[in-house]
Amino acid sequence: MKYIGTRDETIKATASQAILKGICPDGGLFIPSRIPKVNKSLSDLSKFSYQELAYEILRLYLTDFTEQELKYCINNAYDSKFDTQQIVPLVKKGDALFLELFHGKTLAFKDIALSILPYFMKIAAKKNGIDKEIVILTATSGDTGKAALEGFANVEGTKIIVFFPEDGVSPVQKLQMTTQEGENTCVVGIKGNFDDAQSAVKSIFTDKELSQKLEQKGYIFSSANSINIGRLVPQIVYYFYAYLQVAKQGEIALGDTLNFTVPTGNFGDILAGYYAKCMGLPVNHFVCASNDNKVLYDFFRTGKYNKNREFHVTISPSMDILISSNLERFLCHIMGQQKTKECMTKLQNEGNYKIEIVQNDEISGEYATEQETYGAIKQIYEQTGYICDTHTAVAYAAYQKYKNRTNDNTPMVIVSTASPYKFTKDVMVALDENNQNEDAFALMKKLQKVSGVTIPTVIQGIEKRKIVHTHVCEKNNIKQFVSNYLLK
Ligand SMILES: *Cc1c(COP(=O)(O)O)cnc(C)c1O
Repeated sequence: MKYIGTRDETIKATASQAILKGICPDGGLFIPSRIPKVNKSLSDLSKFSYQELAYEILRLYLTDFTEQELKYCINNAYDSKFDTQQIVPLVKKGDALFLELFHGKTLAFKDIALSILPYFMKIAAKKNGIDKEIVILTATSGDTGKAALEGFANVEGTKIIVFFPEDGVSPVQKLQMTTQEGENTCVVGIKGNFDDAQSAVKSIFTDKELSQKLEQKGYIFSSANSINIGRLVPQIVYYFYAYLQVAKQGEIALGDTLNFTVPTGNFGDILAGYYAKCMGLPVNHFVCASNDNKVLYDFFRTGKYNKNREFHVTISPSMDILISSNLERFLCHIMGQQKTKECMTKLQNEGNYKIEIVQNDEISGEYATEQETYGAIKQIYEQTGYICDTHTAVAYAAYQKYKNRTNDNTPMVIVSTASPYKFTKDVMVALDENNQNEDAFALMKKLQKVSGVTIPTVIQGIEKRKIVHTHVCEKNNIKQFVSNYLLK
């Protein structure tokens, strides 16, 4: 299996090289030169544990890893740091099936990929004879940062620097990052949004002068964002796992089709689902759910991508994104490198592009306003007693709209991306407006009472932990910060 660039098919890498590099030298992303097919039947796959299924999928993509290496990565990643043996349980509530991806250490779906990425990196470095320290530069809209910190803290041979929007994350998300321990960690609040952080980080990766200077100092850069193909591949696994669970629970027969609604920001999670479908998983349709930053909704309706618009800070902050990096991979799969490069150049220069929208019956866009998101939390709670987080609520509201618009009755899996405890305040306000005046941490106890779900141990007492990271940086000074920090 070779990996090639989305803007230039002559850029080639092995899986381990693509993981180490994170991004192509021309700013494009690595994609597999072809998407492999699974070569076992669904009924064979349904006998597998999560770890066995992970091996079956990963071996098709990471072809320069040995069986032993892959199993080492998988067994170290998917162990008791998840609070359930199933890793990603599927629960039925009312007319929807929720795929809970938040049972890892940082309570968001990013844990699935970021629990394994440090192991991939370690082995990839060894394989390629890298003796330099790997510096993981990470832009986060709130959840990737903590999941990456948790994955890379105290990992020998690595340093991790995280940039988060100082005024754009929830109180729990912020504390999770600023209280992170580990000699090799650095967390920086920026005066800007996720797009500012991601653009700065991408430009650092492609800055030849800076990377030369750092190389002399013994550093190389890599990425823990979903621009790294090593993030994407582990996410394919849970689409298969979800499908097999739905069949086991008797909602469908093996071979029947299933729909997924995915709360989307950077288009990484849903792209992994699209890969699963291309590999042979019987998926009928994906609903790409957005919040008020509905750049993808507009794109799937009109074929026009336009980031020149107002940026909204919403109650689903991990989806507050106007430049969805992984859409580039999708474009490349459907229209090839040359056209993708034209679009990306136009996006960079003018902030927009348009493609001939090939009548797309695989993915459609829906979005939920803030009111609809609050409404969905309340509705699900009143109908079923289940409390979901704000991102999952965006997906649920989008699913309702999709269903009303199309009358598609295929069973629907709602991809649940975070624990409600990460967004306690907004979740509790959705249930009762009077909670507006209460403190987010006091509300955790209340949430525990109404949901019957214990406060996860990883955030118990978080408001009392020592804040160890206090760096703040202007959005235009990110490159300077990195350079000062590493070359000091
Ligand atoms: C990151 C994130 C998303 C969006 O996922 P993408 O892969 O960026 O589309 C949705 N919900 C939560 C809770 C997240 O952390």
